[in-house]
Amino acid sequence: MTVRDRIDLRWTHVDDLYVDGAWVPSTGSARIDVVDPATEEVWGSVPDATAEDIEAAMAAADRAFRTGPWPRLSPSERADYLLRIADEVEKRADELAWTNSRENGTPILETMGAAANAAGIFRYFAGLAGYLESDDVRAFPSGAAESVVRRDPVGVCVLIAPWNFPINLVVIKLAPALLAGCPAVVKPASPTPLSIRFVLDAVEAAGVPAGVVNLVTGSGAVGDALVRHPLTAKVAFTGSTPVGRKIAGACGELLRPVTLELGGKSSAIVLPDADLEQMASVLIRSSMRNTGQTCYISTRILAPAERYDEVVEMVTDTVAAAKQGDPFDPESVFGPVATRAQYDTVLGYLRSAEEEGARATTGGRARDGVGYFVEPTVLADVTPDMRVSREEIFGPVITILRYDTVDEAVELANNTEFGLGGLVFSADQTAAQAVAERMDTGSVGLNFFASNHSAPFGGRHDSGLGVEYGVEGLAAYLTYKSIHRRPKGSE
Ligand code: NAP
Ligand code: MG
Repeated sequence: MTVRDRIDLRWTHVDDLYVDGAWVPSTGSARIDVVDPATEEVWGSVPDATAEDIEAAMAAADRAFRTGPWPRLSPSERADYLLRIADEVEKRADELAWTNSRENGTPILETMGAAANAAGIFRYFAGLAGYLESDDVRAFPSGAAESVVRRDPVGVCVLIAPWNFPINLVVIKLAPALLAGCPAVVKPASPTPLSIRFVLDAVEAAGVPAGVVNLVTGSGAVGDALVRHPLTAKVAFTGSTPVGRKIAGACGELLRPVTLELGGKSSAIVLPDADLEQMASVLIRSSMRNTGQTCYISTRILAPAERYDEVVEMVTDTVAAAKQGDPFDPESVFGPVATRAQYDTVLGYLRSAEEEGARATTGGRARDGVGYFVEPTVLADVTPDMRVSREEIFGPVITILRYDTVDEAVELANNTEFGLGGLVFSADQTAAQAVAERMDTGSVGLNFFASNHSAPFGGRHDSGLGVEYGVEGLAAYLTYKSIHRRPKGSE
């Protein structure tokens, strides 16, 4: 019996949104279906919010900002709420994981950690309260006066998330927004609108005042309306580069601050002295996490010509040995891809690879039977001009390219439109770091990759604008005010 046989989901077909501290029915009847990508079954649905619903959510957030208690609490009082939210999210870990796996096919092995990860993010930002607690006082260069530098909350934040990590990619925006004193309106992706309700439920259980956090489900048009709404002060978006560009355009015109976490095409540079056994132990997580649907993973492996065959063999064997199956099977490392559209996109890339002369050493096709399963695939003999080498596939596909010199490897790594993640594998950490420093990207791992709550994470070039995590990530939710005054006693 797998977990799937035991699950009884709390939310499947729902008709409400979370607005002004309560679950309220949508004023319309349009709905969005939620499909299980492993079975192709419609198992849930949510409202596609109306203009009236959007108005209600934005008005509630605006009231919470202008007249509510939230921005007026001290940062450490808000931090206490964040700590309570963290505990409440963790209490909901199992249900949240089951719902997430059913929405997007992420293996339960991964989603079982989603609540703990979210709680960790709330606790990390709670720990930054001290950073906001007292205003900086800075002397004028002449010494005749001083300035109080205040970090005010920026205002109502619109948080828009994609479907690949529906909890983490909301929480990494929500936690700093809340600590800063900002109310938020959350718009999850259409394929994954249900698991995030456990976070809203935790926010409610933690006693957060009405209007501070609101949830509006719906299509991209709902996201667009929220971005352009007159009461929106800041937009935080994670998703594709084309949609990010549209949002940046709208925010540019409106002079509205925006952070964008977009796509990637990151490289793992395997230096000639790399320990391939060590690399095998981290390969799936660093290059194929979440069935290849992770923005920062290094899906392009750059192997030295003299060890090319050895690298191809190791990568092929490692990928072929990892189990693909029902996301609810605790042994599954790979599930289906999340949506029918993504399945078609990934298969299109596999066809283009074949036409352009790449060689699949494992996988390479759709799996027979029900569900959006694409076989985990390794493509060898990939050259820099092939589409699979340049564009983000967002599916279980690794490409392996060949290089002759380390300079050429660095050039290859930097020669994409993106700049999000990256890896260097080497037995010599100093040599690896020297290569990492030459990579034109937001984050690089030496022999492993993981994100650190306290280190900024973000992309360069077409991978985005701004960063999340760390005090740098908190800064995106603040606006500064300098109050100039004579020093006390000399007024
Ligand atoms: P997407 O199509 O860009 O959608 C992301 C979110 O934006 C969804 O909530 C979507 O709603 C909404 N949206 C669509 N059109 C909009 C518009 N015109 N205005 C405002 N919002 C709009 O991305 P996706 O397909 O969900 O996710 C996959 C992409 O996300 C990949 O390219 C991946 O690299 C990127 N990603 C980046 C990071 C990172 O941190 N850098 C992390 C994860 C994923 P609907 O779902 O209703 O269309
Ligand atoms: Mg999309």
